[in-house]
Amino acid sequence: MLEEIGLLKEIQSLDSEVIRIKLLIEKTPKTVSEYDKALNAAKSDVALKRAVVDKAIKQRKDLELLAEEKNERIIKMKGRINDLKSNKEYKTHLKEIEQVEREKRHVEDDILNLMEQMETYDKALKKSELALTKEESHYNEKLSYLNKEKAISEKELEGLIAKRNKLSKEISKEIYDKYIKLLSKKHGIAVVRAVSEICCGCNMSIPPQLFVEVMKNDRILTCPQCGRILWYENENNNK
Ligand SMILES: [Zn+2]
Repeated sequence: MLEEIGLLKEIQSLDSEVIRIKLLIEKTPKTVSEYDKALNAAKSDVALKRAVVDKAIKQRKDLELLAEEKNERIIKMKGRINDLKSNKEYKTHLKEIEQVEREKRHVEDDILNLMEQMETYDKALKKSELALTKEESHYNEKLSYLNKEKAISEKELEGLIAKRNKLSKEISKEIYDKYIKLLSKKHGIAVVRAVSEICCGCNMSIPPQLFVEVMKNDRILTCPQCGRILWYENENNNK
């Protein structure tokens, strides 16, 4: 095999890895923002549930005050019973007391209903708070894992780039420039295998005569369809 084809093959495989790792590193901020989103959603959920609980607490206080007011009114009204002159006045007064008592019972029923609802609200809040606690610890774990992975990737990237730069010095400038141009034009894949008269870069046929030449691996040849540099490896060797 022409040495340059072998080198190009190797540089391509290193560059493919470089591209893969770069993409991985570039994805980090997006992943962090996804983690943030999940955490913020859990925080908003807790805030929402807490607002419902707080509103119910205030509502209950108001109702309790109202019941207290009614109660005081009843006591006052009952205290006036002995001051009443006529039977008619007495009857009217009793009716008024009954009315306020009914109102008080009504308020007390409302308090009971509200307290029942509050149990549900409390449960929902506790559930959301638990979910937030989990999300928070999960968030920190995920973030530290992500940063660790990123640091590993960056180190790996450094090594790969150094390796590919060293190899690239062994190729003629003309061929290397051609490779680099192809790499940027062909989405990171400039050197491809040719198998059974097919280019593995574009999956189009390679003319038989050209394929025979490619099989020799002794010249830099390109696919007539996609322009990528072709190399050949025995088809029984599945790699
Ligand atoms: Zn092709």
